[in-house]
Amino acid sequence: MKALVLGAGGFIGNHLVTRLKSEGYYVSGIDLNYPEFNKSACDNFIIGDLRNELFCREHITSDYQEIYQLAADMGGAGYLFSGDNDFNVMHNSAAINLNVTNIAVERKIPKIFYSSSACIYPKYNQLDPDNPRCNEDSAYPADPDSEYGWEKLFSERLYLSAYRNYNLQVRIARFHNVYGPFGTYNNGKEKAPAALCRKVAEANSGKTIEIWGTGKQTRSFLYVDDCIDGIRKLMNSDFTGPVNIGSEEKISLNEFAEMIIRISGKSISIKNVEGPVGVNGRTSHNDLVQQTINWQPKLSLLQGITKTYNWINEQIVVEKLSL
Ligand code: NAD
Repeated sequence: MKALVLGAGGFIGNHLVTRLKSEGYYVSGIDLNYPEFNKSACDNFIIGDLRNELFCREHITSDYQEIYQLAADMGGAGYLFSGDNDFNVMHNSAAINLNVTNIAVERKIPKIFYSSSACIYPKYNQLDPDNPRCNEDSAYPADPDSEYGWEKLFSERLYLSAYRNYNLQVRIARFHNVYGPFGTYNNGKEKAPAALCRKVAEANSGKTIEIWGTGKQTRSFLYVDDCIDGIRKLMNSDFTGPVNIGSEEKISLNEFAEMIIRISGKSISIKNVEGPVGVNGRTSHNDLVQQTINWQPKLSLLQGITKTYNWINEQIVVEKLSL
């Protein structure tokens, strides 16, 4: 079986390549960059820009039975919710998805996975941190809180229209805050779990770390291995989606920071400061994913974030030693 992973240099794509190789696939990957922290397990890693249609025509060929489309211009709250990157986020990701769907239809690719996001859900259902509503059928009337969410919603519709009109077998997942080792933690595109682990790992006992917003905003976080299980189960199923792939274990950002501080064994305090935060509350709602593909996350947040903190802490220790 031959698979093509788009965004293979990114956090989830890199983990997915490793999984597909362990399952016996021949895997090609495309990305602007190689993975940041390890050598990719790809048989064939192609560096290039998926916004370029000619490049896509050359490399997205009918050799592949499966395509996994994870390439996107994305980052954490500091990147997506500040407003500074809105045009790039919309234009770059839409251009990639327009090229990929067009060529996948033309070349009759048998199956394609598309990674959407919890950021498509409307703001008005996520005002109360204790009762966010993120079940799949609550996406409309649409009102995502970021241009990133609007692009994901547009692209979901693009893939679904290719399915309806050309029978392109698409599988669409809405990921909710995926985290784990080998993810960016210090380049401005890191997301909350990695940013919090870095802040705690860098601080000495007795110091204070800053958390954006009131810290009362809630989220749920999914360990990357569970995410990859979900992708593979969805791809092996007959269910088109969109379907949530996330955790239902909701936690406030301040409580999450306190959990990481406890793991570190240090005595660190928290100061809430102004910063981009996104919606007040968001968590996955897993009834549909459980009914359709019988998937649920296996790791608790404590188990997953302990592995992640230990990995980030190790990177920071090595950085300090090499200074
Ligand atoms: P990531 O930023 O680590 O990976 C995306 C990869 O796409 C990067 O390596 C980037 O270089 C590549 N890319 C961007 N533009 C490209 C281009 N023009 N040509 C070729 N490659 C390009 O992100 P991730 O966390 O691995 O996320 C993977 C997918 O899942 C993305 O589509 C993202 O929107 C979606 N998603 C992720 C999360 C999460 O919490 N990580 C949540 C919801 C949705």
